[in-house]
Amino acid sequence: MSAASLTIDLDAIANNWRRLSRMTAAETGATIKADAYGLGAGPVARKLAQAGARSFFVALAEEGAAIRQAVGAGPRIFVFSGHMAGDTQTLRNLALTPMLNSVDQVLRHFESLPGHPFGVQLDTGMNRLGMEGPEWSAVRDMVLEMGPRLVMSHLACADEPHHLMNAEQLETFLSMTAGHVGDRSLAATGGILLGPEYHFDLVRPGIGLYGGAPFAEAQAVAALSLPVVQVRDVAPGEAVGYSCTWVAERPSRIATVAAGYADGLLRSLSGNAVLWADRTPCPVVGRVSMDLITCDVTDLAEPPEALDILGPQQGVDDLAEQAGTIGYEILTSLGPRYRRRYAGQAA
Ligand SMILES: *Cc1c(COP(=O)(O)O)cnc(C)c1O
Repeated sequence: MSAASLTIDLDAIANNWRRLSRMTAAETGATIKADAYGLGAGPVARKLAQAGARSFFVALAEEGAAIRQAVGAGPRIFVFSGHMAGDTQTLRNLALTPMLNSVDQVLRHFESLPGHPFGVQLDTGMNRLGMEGPEWSAVRDMVLEMGPRLVMSHLACADEPHHLMNAEQLETFLSMTAGHVGDRSLAATGGILLGPEYHFDLVRPGIGLYGGAPFAEAQAVAALSLPVVQVRDVAPGEAVGYSCTWVAERPSRIATVAAGYADGLLRSLSGNAVLWADRTPCPVVGRVSMDLITCDVTDLAEPPEALDILGPQQGVDDLAEQAGTIGYEILTSLGPRYRRRYAGQAA
């Protein structure tokens, strides 16, 4: 068995959800798009439903299938990309609520699924998804008349609390939704931390559930241990890995572990990352290759059987920094080859 093992702590996800819930008087939903940020939409949704979550958010209608199966008929599943051509059957069969993003989507929805629940997504300045002011004005009265289950927008800079964009978007959202009597949502993880005026009726955290910044109090969720395939001694002057980018300066011991960029351990970790033998750091040396990573274990008394890349000494944000990216990308890149183990699985 040489596959690396990825342990996903579902109790930690539920605890993070509860902690975020305690920070707001609004309903706390859960964003579980992209297979729950790479951690497994089915087990995560089941656990969160058991913890009390009643509203889930996905990016694409297709992502609703695994979640509906996991949580059953009760909870609401909102789809950020709205009602796209070809989604009609999926939305109906899985009882998903599309967040309509444009007049085109509004017309498509009302024509193809009259009476089917929907929400509205407004663009308050991010210029990514949702109706902008003039478009919204044209259909607003008619759409509100039809009773959207949720009117939402998304903050572009919520992870920077002092960014002026936050207050601007809040103002725009308030004016675009004035007079709407139903539920509103503006905050993801970062928005929850900005304070209650950003919470409205429903918050929809993602990354905070999975142990990532900006939710500093999050409990770590993912642990990843890489088995050592081989250990060798190299003499000063010998090189390691593709393109010979690392050359030993002292008699060194090199461990080769069984995971690489095909498993989401980004090539930009080459020469920057650290693996851990319990509390001893072992620097990655040479290039990360597709299936293997080489690392310097010279300072260990014994050759290790496995090394940790995510664990007590190093979380997703630490690894993200070493790779020059964000925790979101580390998590969603975790590949299909890992042996996945779920701790705290819901019954
Ligand atoms: C991804 C996403 C979220 C969740 O954001 P986090 O920063 O992970 O909490 C919420 N709303 C929308 C529209 C999103 O795209």
